[in-house]
Amino acid sequence: MQTNFSKEQLKDKSNISSEKILRKCVHCGFCNATCPTYHLLGDELDGPRGRIYLIKDMLEKNKPANEKIVKHIDRCLSCYSCMTTCPSGVNYMHLIDHGRRHIEKTYKRSFKDRFARGFLSLALSKSINFKIIAILTQFIKPLRFFFPKSIRETIAFMPKKFPKKTLPSMNIYPATNKKKAVARVALLTGCVQKVISPQINESTIRLLNRHGIEVVVLKGIECCGSLNHHLGKEDLANQTFKKNISIWYDEYLNNGLDAIISNTSGCGTTLKDYGFIFRSDKELKKKAKKISELTKDISEYLEENIKLNFIKKKQNEKQYKIAYHSACSMQHGQNVHHAPINLIKKTGNEVFDIPDGHLCCGSAGTYNLLQKDIAKKLLNNKILNIKKIKPQFIATGNIGCITQIASGTIIPILHTVEIIDWYTGGPRPEVLKKI
Ligand code: SF4
Ligand code: SF4
Repeated sequence: MQTNFSKEQLKDKSNISSEKILRKCVHCGFCNATCPTYHLLGDELDGPRGRIYLIKDMLEKNKPANEKIVKHIDRCLSCYSCMTTCPSGVNYMHLIDHGRRHIEKTYKRSFKDRFARGFLSLALSKSINFKIIAILTQFIKPLRFFFPKSIRETIAFMPKKFPKKTLPSMNIYPATNKKKAVARVALLTGCVQKVISPQINESTIRLLNRHGIEVVVLKGIECCGSLNHHLGKEDLANQTFKKNISIWYDEYLNNGLDAIISNTSGCGTTLKDYGFIFRSDKELKKKAKKISELTKDISEYLEENIKLNFIKKKQNEKQYKIAYHSACSMQHGQNVHHAPINLIKKTGNEVFDIPDGHLCCGSAGTYNLLQKDIAKKLLNNKILNIKKIKPQFIATGNIGCITQIASGTIIPILHTVEIIDWYTGGPRPEVLKKI
């Protein structure tokens, strides 16, 4: 694609990288075929190619975003299905991130919109904020009809009670069954996940410790920053990125880290992008690159590094039919698809890909709260496809997908790591009580 940035514009690092991305696009439109919003809405501007043109025009002309551009960019899920499909290697993720930052700088959203996005940023980026707001929202639930739609959805989403933790909060979880740990990893425990589904981190820690790995949970690290990053709130996201990079890098230098483990694929995708985000920052460039290199999804880490001991399989547990939902951030964002499936297959159960599995379930961070109607249609399609498999339960590797899919079906849904933990000596997951 021909581009028309001026020399002056090309002094800006974001324009330099967006120009390179745009030049790779050959307008073929293959990406439209796998774009969930293009599928549903049928408008060229709701597909990747159309959005690329909108962003190109806005950036090249350095013009402020307008209502039309914002509408179509906001409807993008950032699912990156288009990147998997694109034969030219167009990095749509970096382009839309730039587009979103430009929108945030040049477009004044309505008060309702700003309020909703500010509320989500405050409520979901820190576990303590989430807990406090969840408690407070119980009192205002009867009044929720006076709030804008997205706030109503957020209020409805807030849990009434929090599941109990079964592991104490510690900074270091030492390896068990081994005199000396075979590896040492840091775990990103996340913000909302650790409040609504603490069993995911607990399964991860137990499983790693049982296989001789020491797990450290570093103080000061909670959110990966992706929530604000995708809302276009660059300053807030950067504050989080910088803090995380410096805490993890110090630990890597002082005590050694073999990996940084993410068990939420949305967060893992962002951690793996820190290197790109700070590519021109003299002070952080090297550190950010190292953090990205160290980051592994838990399924990737287990598959590549650990000889798992499947005790339950040896004891001839009942065989289950499992539908595997590959989160967009896992399959398209991180290009990790086979590792979780291979791991689950090793438990001796039957694992099936969901038909049209490349299409998003509608979760996409805060998308299901900000774009409720599209998200609902995507969820309904996902549930119909899951039902075709007739699974006893569903497995996936992202808390957002777990919450979204669980809101549309009574079929139990588990994180992949809960299944692996269970089959290697951990407890049977609570959600399977009834089957
Ligand atoms: S598939 Fe790739 S090259 Fe073709 S239009 Fe889409 S982004 Fe451009
Ligand atoms: S990221 Fe997803 S929703 Fe956005 S343009 Fe690409 S395929 Fe479509």
